[in-house]
Amino acid sequence: MPWDRRRRSLIDLLRREGAGDRVLQAMDRVPREQFMPENVRPDAYEDTPLYIGHNQTISAPSMVAAMCQLLDIPEGCKVLEIGTGMGYHAAVMAELAGPAGTVFTVERIPELADQARTVLSKLGYDNVKVFLRDGTEGLPDFAPYDRISVAAAAPDIPKPLVEQLNDPGRLVIPVGRYFQQLMLVEKRGGHVITTDKGGVAFVPLLGKYGFKGY
Ligand code: SAH
Repeated sequence: MPWDRRRRSLIDLLRREGAGDRVLQAMDRVPREQFMPENVRPDAYEDTPLYIGHNQTISAPSMVAAMCQLLDIPEGCKVLEIGTGMGYHAAVMAELAGPAGTVFTVERIPELADQARTVLSKLGYDNVKVFLRDGTEGLPDFAPYDRISVAAAAPDIPKPLVEQLNDPGRLVIPVGRYFQQLMLVEKRGGHVITTDKGGVAFVPLLGKYGFKGY
């Protein structure tokens, strides 16, 4: 089946599961197969996590949709992502933020950062900037961020990320070691409100404010 038709049937599935139109339109514009390593490319439009090498797994498309939905990314938004992986999720957020917005995405594995950078630039995502470093410390150079999306599970919400969140701003992050909860952190009028959005499964966030025992 051609990629476009596979993408369309995935979008239809996500719509039936309740994803919103804006997020679905953004996902419809991103050729997910181009971000996938060859061995898992045939499964690019299956709604399942995929193993990408380096001991890392990327989220199922429905998780990308759910996180984008919770973040509620308007046009012109400045977004920070921790855990670039293959760069697919960054591309979806770049579609939501539009040409006036920017996505800064941080990865700790050099090969993954390089691959993501190559694919993103080939597809013309000039508003996505990939950085190689420990994302648990955020990216202070360009802070504050209107939205922060963390794609790996942390022991606690890293303090630097809350500090680098704009007011108003929203952050989503999975928290926990074996059993994880997706947390939404909202900063508003000087207050920080944290809400539990339910159980999830992510690879660990490693680094200074992440897990150390792996
Ligand atoms: N958002 C990605 C999925 C990322 S998987 C996508 O849709 O393709 C999680 C990623 O987080 C892995 O690539 C892993 O290397 C990265 N990661 C883990 N700890 C990190 C840290 N401290 N800083 C940056 N990246 C980290």
